[in-house]
Amino acid sequence: MIEFKGIAKTYHIGEIEVKAVRGVSLTIKAGEFVAIMGASGSGKSTLMHLMGLLDRPDAGEFFLAGQPVHNLSDEQMALVRNRLIGFVFQQFHLLPRMTAVENAGLPLIYAGRRGQEDKVRQCLTSVGLADRMTHKPNELSGGQQQRVAIARALVNDPLLIFADEPTGNLDSKSKEEIVGILKELHHQGKTIIMVTHEPEMAQHAQRVIHMRDGVVISDEQKAQSNAPSVFIDPATIPEISKLSSAAYEQTKMFDSAHQAIFAMVAHKMRSFLSILGILIGVGAVIAMLALGRGAQASIEQQLASLGSNLLMVRPGSSRVQGVVMQSGTVTRLTTQDAAAISQFSDKVKSVSGSVTGRAQLVYANKNWNSQLEGVEVSYAAMRASEPALGRFFTDEEIKKRDKVAVLGTTVARELFGDANPVGETVKINLISFRVIGILPSKGANSFRDQDDTVVVPLTTAMNRVLGKEYVDSIYVEVVSPDEIDNTQTAISELLIKRHRLRGEEAQDSFQIRNMSDIKAALSTTTKTMSMLLGAIAAISLLVGGIGIMNIMLVSVTERTREIGLRKAIGATRRDIMVQFLVESVLLSLIGGIAGVILGVGAAVLITVFAGWAVKVSISSIILATVFSLGVGVAFGLGPAMKASELDPIEALRYE
Ligand code: ADP
Ligand code: MG
Repeated sequence: MIEFKGIAKTYHIGEIEVKAVRGVSLTIKAGEFVAIMGASGSGKSTLMHLMGLLDRPDAGEFFLAGQPVHNLSDEQMALVRNRLIGFVFQQFHLLPRMTAVENAGLPLIYAGRRGQEDKVRQCLTSVGLADRMTHKPNELSGGQQQRVAIARALVNDPLLIFADEPTGNLDSKSKEEIVGILKELHHQGKTIIMVTHEPEMAQHAQRVIHMRDGVVISDEQKAQSNAPSVFIDPATIPEISKLSSAAYEQTKMFDSAHQAIFAMVAHKMRSFLSILGILIGVGAVIAMLALGRGAQASIEQQLASLGSNLLMVRPGSSRVQGVVMQSGTVTRLTTQDAAAISQFSDKVKSVSGSVTGRAQLVYANKNWNSQLEGVEVSYAAMRASEPALGRFFTDEEIKKRDKVAVLGTTVARELFGDANPVGETVKINLISFRVIGILPSKGANSFRDQDDTVVVPLTTAMNRVLGKEYVDSIYVEVVSPDEIDNTQTAISELLIKRHRLRGEEAQDSFQIRNMSDIKAALSTTTKTMSMLLGAIAAISLLVGGIGIMNIMLVSVTERTREIGLRKAIGATRRDIMVQFLVESVLLSLIGGIAGVILGVGAAVLITVFAGWAVKVSISSIILATVFSLGVGVAFGLGPAMKASELDPIEALRYE
């Protein structure tokens, strides 16, 4: 069954070389029960690990069931361990959070046979644990735990059983029971190799090999009194080079995912904390993007209400100049300019000059500071400002510089509450005005309350309230969108002529902007803003990812022995990798989905309580979910690789 030819293994600890096994040649036949004895440090465990394909020899040849196995790939070694070999360790190595059935059934996962619980129960019954199936390791005695471990070694019907000091941690009664079970297995035809330093244990074996300092010093055969009753048929031994897990790779993947979920559920607090990081990150991304988008949408909506045929003429330059601007280059626009522009009757529908300033309004004992706007009659139609209540002022009133005012709804509410202001008298910057109308409500955007304004005749504003000789801007409504460019040119030429501008001056001293320019400028601003908000939120998502990585790394370290055990019973690198990767991806995905719910909820709350425009987009939800998935993969990959690359022996020995 086992043939060793000059097998050697040397460990290097820094400069020091430890020759644990130095040139061992021996043969163990099928159906033997061999005890390996020797002092501590004599190389017994190392020899057993080499025989069990848990470790590779540095030199020598190894034939298992007549087939060379000294240079199998890691994956092939894992397959052999899984199918042909069962291990029993001194420390039992049961997984603490699993029941006896789950523990004993572990090797089935890596054989693509999970779900064959009958087999597991049968093995547990055969070691006398029929009534302890659902107990966890901490609910079992040492002897019972070791029996679970033996059942685990048996579930895949191995040819060989390796037991390293199986009774080392047990009381004398349990020792007898365990050795009894091993003898029974031997009787059923299993080949058993048991490492022990207790002569009373070794006496149960047929053959005793003594080791010292890495070499075999004696090899005694005992009487054949307890020979097995059943011999394995050599024909049933599979061809090792043809062992493959390809047929059930998918089942294995599914089972590894199942193990990952199990681990997540078992460590609730830890899982919750790692989910929390991602949850907050994704929630923030969704809410921030929704906020940005909402602001953008409300600005666009308000711009749309202005009408796309509107032009705005303003003094001053739209270009930023490196040098200090001379005051003379700024053209001042006058009401005459406005009148001249209105002469383009084929292109221009209406024109209104405009001045703005701050105004202190007083009514009875109420005070309110607002924006004052002086405009002409055509403004009402142009800016969708036909009063909702009362009327707008007339040309006659403009001519007479009448002290009449149309209030925005915010101003009306602040000064008059629910009462009707029309016909009342308010003081604007200490001058008495008669309220003749209320503007329609335009709503607030994220930046400014558009209803917090007072509109008065242009002439009144210029001469009586603000004391301005020039207009701040001229609104021009063009007859149709097609005429906008022509009109812009015509107005430009007209102003250059009227103000006798030349060269540089002509370009810089006034600007004409149409609504699409303004829209474009505003939406770039809001887009930048929402990108910025999103970027800040994305950073928190990144931090969440680092949190996951942290927790996964801790988890890998904490479960090093578990990983070692899984490898010993046949898990390949890939299986371990999948298990840990699935865990981190699931954590971040759950965090992502919960974060989406949180983000949408936050957006709704912001709308309801703060009254801000908020707009959750499907694309941001998809983006955040995909991103969190990516975070799970990116930050889980490192720890998963680390786990998968652990050496089984070292991992098992990890304290
Ligand atoms: P036994 O099981 O007979 O007590 P081992 O096979 O465990 O002995 O160890 C044999 C020798 O190899 C000891 O001197 C031990 O210190 C050394 N050794 C075992 N494993 C390692 C390792 N992973 N790294 C370094 N030295 C090791
Ligand atoms: Mg040992």
